[in-house]
Amino acid sequence: MENQWDIIIIGAGLAGSALAENISRSGLRILLVDATEPGSGGASARSRGMVRVYDPDPTLMQYNVDGVREWRRLNQRWPGLFCQCGLIYLLKEANIAGAQALLPTFSSPDYPIELISREQALQLMPGLNIPAQAGILYEPRGGYVNPRLACQLLAHQAREQGAELLAGVQVTGVESQPDGVRVHTAQHILTARLAVVAAGAHSRTLLADIPVFSRSIALANLYSVQAQAPQTCLIDEYSGSYLRPGSASFVFAGGAPQQDADEPEQLQHHQSAHSVNLHLAQKMLPDASLQLSHGWDGYDGYTTNFLPQVQLMKERHLALFCGFSGRGAKYIPAAARQFSQQLQEFLQ
Ligand SMILES: Cc1cc2nc3c(=O)[nH]c(=O)nc-3n(C[C@H](O)[C@H](O)[C@H](O)COP(=O)(O)OP(=O)(O)OC[C@H]3O[C@@H](n4cnc5c(N)ncnc54)[C@H](O)[C@@H]3O)c2cc1C
Repeated sequence: MENQWDIIIIGAGLAGSALAENISRSGLRILLVDATEPGSGGASARSRGMVRVYDPDPTLMQYNVDGVREWRRLNQRWPGLFCQCGLIYLLKEANIAGAQALLPTFSSPDYPIELISREQALQLMPGLNIPAQAGILYEPRGGYVNPRLACQLLAHQAREQGAELLAGVQVTGVESQPDGVRVHTAQHILTARLAVVAAGAHSRTLLADIPVFSRSIALANLYSVQAQAPQTCLIDEYSGSYLRPGSASFVFAGGAPQQDADEPEQLQHHQSAHSVNLHLAQKMLPDASLQLSHGWDGYDGYTTNFLPQVQLMKERHLALFCGFSGRGAKYIPAAARQFSQQLQEFLQ
């Protein structure tokens, strides 16, 4: 089999775009394929990109530390990508001791994470309804990124560095061969030494044996009649809901119950999820007079333990870079940087 490419990356969401940008510096022949345009399909198109370090799982926390570092680097290159507006995290009483134990390892002068008082929290977010027993974590340098714009910039940069982009082309199958891989589309059979499946929730459509499933993520865009929308990100363990600032009058709200399915097309989205998001946000901020503007029905590829599938399967000439479990925006570019080194070593 004569390989046209060293590597074909399937999917130009945040995962595929960041991987392409990193590997394209090596001089390898790269093709990035997406059913839409970079950042226009899948989770990255709908994600509001909240960035924090704290997570009950220390493995994800380490991913997040690296993620923040990488987003800061990208923000120097493309100012405005990462808004560090701060993030409040309301901990259930049972989780306060565990969080406290993690802080000495993960908080640093460069990126402090601190437990703050109710008074401090109310100064940051006036009117916030804080449950009596809650612990309050504050990450002053947390915030949010723009995943969609990041995909566009990263894919553009990859092309500047020699990668080729096939946009608007759906991959229909991936077939391992003894000396490489065949990637099928309706019009072409593309051949490469290695194919990376970075197709988000659709990854399982391409490779049925991977442990990634689809989970819905409904997000509401809320309007504050009195222009009292919060200016800090908020995650509330009690209600499972979260808020991401938009402007003085708009905020994004999530946390409505989710659904699971094998593939995104099987998920059933209900308009009621957006009303639930509104209701949860109104409970957290009763004085902000929030109203529903509109909602998004998003989804992501999940794993049961929320850890991503980052795996090189040498004998199959395949790699996985998916399963970011509704948490990937904060750390995918850093994971891509690390994984690209492993892939380049294999290909060189
Ligand atoms: C509503 C919402 C809110 C979120 N909020 C946050 C947050 O606040 N913080 C956070 O860290 N994370 C958040 N996430 C999660 C984060 O955005 C995702 O983990 C991340 O964007 C996943 O990127 P990805 O590249 O793996 O997948 P995707 O962005 O889904 O990209 C997959 C790409 O593959 C393409 N593709 C799929 N199948 C094929 C095929 N057969 N052929 C060709 N192309 C194909 C798609 O078009 C798409 O462009 C959120 C997600 C959603 C949906």
